[in-house]
Amino acid sequence: MLAVITGVAGQDGSYLAEMLLDRGYQVVGVTRRKAVDPGRENLAGVLGREAFTLVEGDVADSTFVGRLLTDRRPHEYYNLAAQSHVGHSFAEPLTTFAVNAQAVLLQLELIRQISPFTRFYQASTSEMFGGIDCPAEGYDEGSPFHPRSPYAVAKVAAYHAVVNYREAYDLHASNGILFNHSSPRRGLDFATRKISRGIASVKRGLADAVHMGDLTASRDEGSSPDYMRAAWKMLQQDEPGDYVVATGVTTTIEEMFRYVCTLADLDFEKTYRPDERFLRPSDVPRLVGNATRARDRLDWQPECDWRTLLCSMYENDLAELAG
Ligand code: NAP
Repeated sequence: MLAVITGVAGQDGSYLAEMLLDRGYQVVGVTRRKAVDPGRENLAGVLGREAFTLVEGDVADSTFVGRLLTDRRPHEYYNLAAQSHVGHSFAEPLTTFAVNAQAVLLQLELIRQISPFTRFYQASTSEMFGGIDCPAEGYDEGSPFHPRSPYAVAKVAAYHAVVNYREAYDLHASNGILFNHSSPRRGLDFATRKISRGIASVKRGLADAVHMGDLTASRDEGSSPDYMRAAWKMLQQDEPGDYVVATGVTTTIEEMFRYVCTLADLDFEKTYRPDERFLRPSDVPRLVGNATRARDRLDWQPECDWRTLLCSMYENDLAELAG
C-alpha cells in the first residue's frame, strides 16, 4: 500500500506517517521547501526509514500535485496540509482560502483525472461549527455549520468540495471533522502548547509569565495520535463518509492553564498575563463533539484524556528547556 501525506512535517502528518510505516505502508510525505532552518524535528521518527520518501512541494501548485499523482498513483491520500492557525487566518484570509479551500478542490480534481481509485482524506475541523449554539450532547455530522474565521470559511468550502466529488464522481473521499487535538509536537502558537511551553518556561526561570488572550473559550481536546488512528480507519471503510472525531468532554482554556500551573506548582494569577494582542475579531466560544458515528462504524474511541495529554506536553517542554 502506498500513501501520500501532505503536511507531513506538521503535528498530525508526522504521527500518521509513523503509524502507516509501522503498518507496512510505503509513505510519500509532502512538505514545503524551506529556505533556511528546515525545522523537520517532527520527522525524526521517519527520516531514514526505507519505506519513507520526503518530497518538497506546495499543494496549491497544480503542476506539483499532478506530477505527484502521475508518478505515485497512491492507494490513499491524506490531505493534512493547511494554513492551520485560526488566529492567523484573520491576517492572511486569501492565502488561507487558497491553501485550505482552493487547493483541496485542485487535489480532488486531479485525483479524479489521474488516479480516481485513490482514497482521499480531508482534514476538516470542528471550527466549521462555530461554537455559538453548541448542543449539550455535542456537535455531530448533521449539525449546521457557522464558520467564525477565514480559516473555518475555507474549511467549510473544502468540506463541501469533498462531499460533491464523492457524490458527483463516486470518489472514495471522506471528511474527518476533527475537534481540537494536540501533542508535544503541537505548534508553539496554539493554545495548549502556549500553556505547556509557557508554564515550563516560567518554571525554568526563562520567563516571568505566559501572555495569552481570552481563556474563557471551551474546547474538546484530544490527542493527535488517537485522532490519526481515526483518520486511517476512515479510509479502510468500503464506503467513504464524514466523521466527527472528538472526546465528548469540553474544558475551558483557563481550566487547562490552571491544571498545568498545578503540575508546575505555580500560582495561576501570577503566571497568566492577559494580552489583548491575542484577541480575535470573532471567536468560537464552546466546542464539544459527539463521536457516536466514529465509535459505531469505525470502532474508534480516544485513549487519552486532556489531563494526560497536557501533562505529557508539559513534561516534554520542561525536559526540552532543561538544556
Ligand atoms: P500543522 O502542524 O500546522 O501542520 C500543517 C502542515 O501543513 C505544516 O507542516 C505546513 O507546512 C503544511 N502546509 C501548509 N501550507 C502548505 C502548502 N501550501 N503546501 C504544502 N504544505 C503546506 O497542523 P496539524 O495540527 O498537524 O493539523 C493538520 C491538519 O488538520 C490541518 O489541515 C489542520 O487545519 C487540520 N485540523 C487540525 C486540528 C488540530 O486541533 N490540530 C483540528 C482540526 C483540523 P510548513 O511547516 O511548511 O508550514
